[in-house]
Formats: sequence, structure tokens, C-alpha cells
Amino acid sequence: DAKEVGRDTFRFFDQQMSREARDRLKLEQALRHAILGGGLSLHYQPKIHLHSGQVSGAEALLRWEHPELGVLSPGVFIPLAETSGLIVEIGAWVLREACTHLRAWREQGLACPRVAVNLAVQQLDQAGFAHWLEALLEDYQLSVDDLELEITETSLMKNEKRALACLAELRSKGFHIALDDFGTGYSSLSYLRKLPLTTLKIDRSFILDMSEDPASLSIVKTIVQLAQNLGLGLVAEGVENAAQAEQLIALGCPLAQGFYFHKPLHQQAFEALLIAGTPV
Ligand code: C2E
Ligand code: MG
Ligand code: MG
Ligand code: MG
Repeated sequence: DAKEVGRDTFRFFDQQMSREARDRLKLEQALRHAILGGGLSLHYQPKIHLHSGQVSGAEALLRWEHPELGVLSPGVFIPLAETSGLIVEIGAWVLREACTHLRAWREQGLACPRVAVNLAVQQLDQAGFAHWLEALLEDYQLSVDDLELEITETSLMKNEKRALACLAELRSKGFHIALDDFGTGYSSLSYLRKLPLTTLKIDRSFILDMSEDPASLSIVKTIVQLAQNLGLGLVAEGVENAAQAEQLIALGCPLAQGFYFHKPLHQQAFEALLIAGTPV
């Protein structure tokens, strides 16, 4: 009868749920393992100065090579890392790894651009994060100018007092701070004014739609103006073709990042690019 069916359905969902929970737990354990025992790596995507075509910086992007599932993109495991709290350890690993690479490039005498690292809001919530980061730079004999910290507009909009205070502290120490995926989070302009930023990154959805959608083009234009008026740096994300690059130059956007210039590169491939760009 109906009751019976209901019970079976319930049992089915119950099993389904516990399977999902079990899978998540397994993935979480594997991730924990990867932090300690390898499997995580950083790729670097160059940021290009549109006028000269020169590499002006790079963004470090995390990759995880899962022993069975292969290379996983951060879109898959960062959300898991955030809910499980592992993101704090992962974030520390990412920062240390980026500093290790920066130091190695310096030792080789390479002209080394600023490296941007993505931060989760939980990292900013930790007491003493700014001090920890300063100490890390000191350990690697690097300065605040060697790093840029990227934080998404949506994550900041949770308006965490602690995270905002930490950001202000980082800025006062001279760190470069970029607002990532800008335009997707509905933050008000007055809110933006209060954030201690140095750079805006235009979300790639606007760049993607710019050529067909007049509204997206208007938004890009407006963001270019806004960055100029607020004295902020500006990077267009997700540039995939020459037409978009030319359009951005015409609009006065200084920097861009995207597959048209470079995909995120293995550390060695990025290093080869630095070697090619270093004057002898
Ligand atoms: P994001 O910071 O906005 O990074 C840009 C994403 O766009 C990257 O995806 C990059 O590979 C991709 N991309 C770059 N150029 C193009 C293009 O021309 N076309 C298209 N379609 N995509 C392009 P990825 O590497 O999968 O990273 C996704 C997101 O994961 C990042 O978005 C960032 O929010 C997060 N993430 C990556 N690494 C870390 C990390 O170390 N820590 C934290 N907390 N988040 C990270
Ligand atoms: Mg980013
Ligand atoms: Mg982005
Ligand atoms: Mg993004």
C-alpha cells in the first residue's frame, strides 16, 4: 500500500543520502591526504598588459590530481574544502607554494611578475592572518609587492566584520588586493568605496557577452570608468579572442587574462615563459 511505498521511497532516499554523504567524506579524506602528501599543484595564468602584450602578472590557480578521478578543477573541490573547513589549510599551502616558486624564480635571476593568489573568506577570518602572511613573506625574502590577494565579490558580501577588518589590515601593510568576479555580486557602489582594494577584475561573463549584448558592453564600459575614477587597477577576465582584446583596448582597459593569451600553465611552462621574457 501507499504507506509501504512511502517507506520504501524514504529508505531509498535515505540510502541515497548516506551514499552521497559517504562519497563526500571519502573525497574530503582524499583531499586531506593530498594536502599532506602531494597531489595539489599550482598552475599560473599570465595577466597581459594589453597595449604592450607584455606579461604583467600571473594568477596562481589550484589543481588537484586525485589518485582515481584524475585532475579535478577547483570548481569541484573548493566548495567541499570550504564547507569542511579544509580551505584554511589548503589556502596556507597555496600561499607557501606560490612563495616557494617566486623565490626559485628569483634565485634563477628571472624577471618575475607579481603573483595573484585566490583567498577564501575563511582565511581572512583567522585571527592573526595578516601577521602570518607577513612572516611567510619574510621567510621567503619576498615583499608585499610580490603578491596580490584576490577575493571574490560574492564572498565579501557576506559582510563578515572580521574578514573586512583583516582586509583593511592587509591593505595597511601594503598588500595588493583585487576584487574577483566583479559585477556578479550586486555590491553597491558605496560599499565598494569602503573596501580597501587596489584592483577590480571584471567577471568573464561580461567579456563573453560583450560583442552580442549591448547591456554587457555598457557594463564593461562603466566598470572601466569606475576603476579610473576610483584610481583602481583593472583586469578583464576570460578574454578568448582577438575581437574581445581589441574591444577592451578601445575601451581603455589596461590588463587582461584569458585563453586568447594563455591558458593556465604548468609551473614549468610558466617558468619557460619567464625565461623567454628575461633580458640577458
Ligand atoms: P577565478 O579566480 O575567477 O579564476 C579564473 C578562472 O577562469 C580559472 O578557472 C581559469 O582557468 C578560468 N579562465 C581563465 N581564462 C579563461 C577563458 O578565457 N575562458 C574561460 N572559459 N575560462 C577562463 P579555474 O582554474 O577552474 O578556477 C575556478 C575558480 O576556483 C577560480 O576563479 C577561483 O575562484 C577558485 N580557485 C582557484 N584556485 C584557488 C585557490 O587556490 N584558492 C581558492 N580559495 N580558490 C581558488
Ligand atoms: Mg581569481
Ligand atoms: Mg574571476
Ligand atoms: Mg571565478
